[in-house]
Amino acid sequence: MESPLPDLVAKIDSYREEVIAFETQLTKIPALGPENGGDGERDKAEYVTTWVNQYLRPDDLQEYRAPDERVSYGYRPNLVATFCGNTPTSFKKNTKGKSGRTVWIMTHLDVVPPGDLSKWTGDPWTVRVVDGKLIGRGVEDNQQGLTSSVFAVKAYRDLDLIPQHNVGLVFVSDEETGSKHGIQYLLKQHRQLFGRDDLIIIPDAGDTKGTMIEVAEKSILWLKFHTKGKQTHGSAPEHGHNAHKAASHLAVRLDALYKKFGKRDPMFSPPISTFEPTKREANVPNVNTIPGEDVMYFDCRILPNYKIAEVMKTIKALVKEVEKKFKVRIKISFAQHDQAAPPTSPEAPVVQAIIRAMKELRGRRPKPMGIGGGTVAAYFRRAGIPAAVWGTMAETAHSPDEYCLIKNILDDAKIFAHIFSQKL
Ligand SMILES: [Zn+2]
Repeated sequence: MESPLPDLVAKIDSYREEVIAFETQLTKIPALGPENGGDGERDKAEYVTTWVNQYLRPDDLQEYRAPDERVSYGYRPNLVATFCGNTPTSFKKNTKGKSGRTVWIMTHLDVVPPGDLSKWTGDPWTVRVVDGKLIGRGVEDNQQGLTSSVFAVKAYRDLDLIPQHNVGLVFVSDEETGSKHGIQYLLKQHRQLFGRDDLIIIPDAGDTKGTMIEVAEKSILWLKFHTKGKQTHGSAPEHGHNAHKAASHLAVRLDALYKKFGKRDPMFSPPISTFEPTKREANVPNVNTIPGEDVMYFDCRILPNYKIAEVMKTIKALVKEVEKKFKVRIKISFAQHDQAAPPTSPEAPVVQAIIRAMKELRGRRPKPMGIGGGTVAAYFRRAGIPAAVWGTMAETAHSPDEYCLIKNILDDAKIFAHIFSQKL
């Protein structure tokens, strides 16, 4: 059989005006979570549902409602649309797309608030088309990936082609504010949706050329050190215990973590774990008082092969030494800690599928990479399902005058269409 790719590519290129119209409609419906002062994603989910039913004719479309009292209608919508593929395994299944390997593309419905309106050059909720760009809140994060995913499927539908494998489109809520009512809910309550052999693509981050595939993250450890000594006059340090001095010694000693946890992993940039003192709270207002209290913070980004617990053990030992030497008490508390999910292997089918499509369509070989911490892909990885974050992005998410290139929407749709056609 001849490759359907040239037809798919041409079809996707013909969607330019439809893509603009779709993005414009999505942007008109601000989907803000309650933490961001909004009433959730329902209206946007309804628009997407209608559109998907009309243009994509899914074999199945379900809405999974995560209860949330904070929005007026009491739930956060999560949409799952599935399309049957061509493989023998998927012929066996019912029309619901529940068995056989599925290629999933997951995007999120919610957006972040526009922020300072004076920094925008127009209304954030009205898409403007300027020099091949769409400008508006959400056009890139995450409507770009969402739009690419639906138009990739549309090309198959319009050409009467059947993808090699089942295809699933997931549109989740609550990504910007913790995912508890989004992908975390789906993975907890409807884990059976996703198989271990499935491919999960999350087009929610990437570089301007699409040459980075995010497959791993560092653990995040934010620590607060509250040192209590004894305040005294600046001229009589012997009457007090200088909390500032003790904490400063601690900050320097903690530099030893770089050596102790010094493994390198070239997949990450920088390729090492980092342990940096960051914020320091104001102490005494005048120069001639020795402070009795000090509060400082560390931001540590730790390679996934180390456990946060082992790092903490070392930190606690160093803290003990400083306490003893300077006669202070140091209380450690977590401002945030998140053990990194196990990385997705660079050999995983989802990574290889993206690389194949990129090589064939763009003549580039993207690199699997790790990032400094925290993406939604981690929830899949923790559930034992390899997931890759990939996209070709202008990288303007959350900024005023957020924009995306129309070309990137179309070109990424072609990559998805290519993946749908691969024998995995
Ligand atoms: Zn996003």
